[in-house]
Amino acid sequence: MAIASSLIEIIKEELAKHGATRLVSARVCHGKLTNIVPEALRFAFEVQTQETSMAGAELELKEISVTVACGGCGTQFTPEHPDLFYMPCPSCGREFAHEVLSGKEIYLDHLEAE
Ligand SMILES: [Zn+2]
Repeated sequence: MAIASSLIEIIKEELAKHGATRLVSARVCHGKLTNIVPEALRFAFEVQTQETSMAGAELELKEISVTVACGGCGTQFTPEHPDLFYMPCPSCGREFAHEVLSGKEIYLDHLEAE
């Protein structure tokens, strides 16, 4: 899983930056539109960190809801069933071409190491 590898790379850099030798826990925020399956990511992380300084660390995953700004009227809303191709605007009914304000990002939010 490519996301797990890049995540591990980022964590590795952070650990080095702080002179830490063992990862205790990491919190990762992921937008709903990234289609991350928490169980799959957790599993990939576990497998790929075996026998490293990150082995056994707790991976906390926090989902970020989707917020878009309507391409027609500018109303900001959180679609109930986010899908890039069908998100009807609650005020004007426009269904697509909205600007995604949040929900596509994935980032390391917090890291605990020793
Ligand atoms: Zn609208």
